[in-house]
Amino acid sequence: MKYLVLLAILAVVYLLWRSQQRRAQAASRPPPAPPSPADSALPQDMVSCPVCAVHLPRGEAVADPQGRLYCSPEHRAGASR
Ligand SMILES: [Zn+2]
Repeated sequence: MKYLVLLAILAVVYLLWRSQQRRAQAASRPPPAPPSPADSALPQDMVSCPVCAVHLPRGEAVADPQGRLYCSPEHRAGASR
């Protein structure tokens, strides 16, 4: 009977120790980084091609020497002709 009590105490101590270990492990783990806003979700400057009037982000536009922006090199070449 004495051994049973001892065993029960040991089991409780072990369970407490294990839960504490798990909590310490969770605390040491870095918190999940907040979801960074996707670059594509950022509002982008929109420009329109003077040849076909299509709207596209400024980053994808093709500029001519005068600084005008076109949707493609073909339209840039066609407009300067
Ligand atoms: Zn165009």
